Amino acid sequence: MAKDKDYIKLIHTPRWLRLRHDILTEHPLCERCEKEGYVSSATEVHHCTPVECGVSYDEKRRLMYDPLNLMALCHDCHVKVHTEMGRSGKEATRRRNAEHVASIIKKFFCD
Ligand SMILES: [Zn+2]
Repeated sequence: MAKDKDYIKLIHTPRWLRLRHDILTEHPLCERCEKEGYVSSATEVHHCTPVECGVSYDEKRRLMYDPLNLMALCHDCHVKVHTEMGRSGKEATRRRNAEHVASIIKKFFCD
């Protein structure tokens, strides 16, 4: 996933390292595996709403450090979650673009 410079800045902070450590201490098991009945140790912390979705630096900072936006995952699940998000993200972009084109066509040819 492409990371923007605010993300890089926010993730290389003592605050993030501490929070990440706290989350993994609190959730030693992968939350996604647990839901599916597996047990794997969590090694990574996932942002449910990607930090890059924030429109301003403040919003990115909020997403980065919001404990409710975080999930403890094993490496495999983290990769899977991002693959799924990437797919749905691409799909959403494609749909938006298609709608935009349709609205232009409608405007110029149908009205
Ligand atoms: Zn897992």
